[in-house]
Amino acid sequence: MKCKRCRRSEAAVDLPSHNSAFCPECFFVFFRRQVEEGIRKFRMLSPSDRVLVCVSGGKDSLVLWDILSELGFRTEGLHIDLGIDGYSARSREKSLAYAVSRGKELIVVDLRAEGVPIPAAAKRSSKEECAVCGTVKRYFFNRIAAERGFTAVATGHNLDDEAARLLGNLLHWDSDHLSRQHPLLPESADGLVRKVKPLWRVSEMETAAYGFLKGIDYVTEECPMSEDATSLVYKKALSHIEDEMPGTRRRFYQGFLHQNRDVPKNSVALDQGEETPPVKCISCGAPTYTEICSFCRLKEKVTKTRGRS
Ligand code: SF4
Ligand SMILES: [Zn+2]
Ligand SMILES: [Zn+2]
Repeated sequence: MKCKRCRRSEAAVDLPSHNSAFCPECFFVFFRRQVEEGIRKFRMLSPSDRVLVCVSGGKDSLVLWDILSELGFRTEGLHIDLGIDGYSARSREKSLAYAVSRGKELIVVDLRAEGVPIPAAAKRSSKEECAVCGTVKRYFFNRIAAERGFTAVATGHNLDDEAARLLGNLLHWDSDHLSRQHPLLPESADGLVRKVKPLWRVSEMETAAYGFLKGIDYVTEECPMSEDATSLVYKKALSHIEDEMPGTRRRFYQGFLHQNRDVPKNSVALDQGEETPPVKCISCGAPTYTEICSFCRLKEKVTKTRGRS
């Protein structure tokens, strides 16, 4: 099949959801335009921004870093080593290798050194690994960005991630999460740095194709903790619908954003369940709605339990 854009080269990427197929060069143009449009639509980033890109070592985050650099944004990477045996070492290695190959700065936070490796922290706090991981990652994304003068934090969530999250929120009629689900959360007066998801218009398959064609070497294994993640069930359901009716996933998520035109407020309240004015954590100074922030409470619990065992 010929590329539907240049009509000369052989098509390498088939995109039924866009009723199109592109050769590598035209696919890069398509992908770049999708990301540019995603950024432009919500005025997520401007050329003066310093962007902290959260890099797990997987395809989405490395592709995000690659495309933001190509679009000319000033970026540095942040990798959080979760302290998961084997998987974390391999993820860190891929993140570092990418940074070195592109001459980019990568900041690494090691959760073992911070006293909160995810498996042990989950066990000692009697919480799900992914819940603990979410709290810890949100904390460090904001802390590192605020401490080092970044104006935006970017994560590699793609269309499949956001659509799956939307389906989950709708199935549970979770109005709180629904009202805050957006590719842009602006900076807040209480010390939260702007959060953006520039890949919200591109699918997982498109991101994977971009990574492959660009020769980006990423971790292909999934996090071992993701096996029970409910998001995978929603992704599977949406993939089934998408196979039968290409383009449904995109219409589902874009339709939601169209209905909810207001960009939500960025707030730590979601993490802590309250809507009172924020204060500074007495232990670390992070914005919080309780005396001690959720990260410091977790750390305290983990350290105390370790002391007893
Ligand atoms: S699957 Fe869970 S533990 Fe693993 S990186 Fe994702 S949120 Fe963290
Ligand atoms: Zn072409
Ligand atoms: Zn704190």
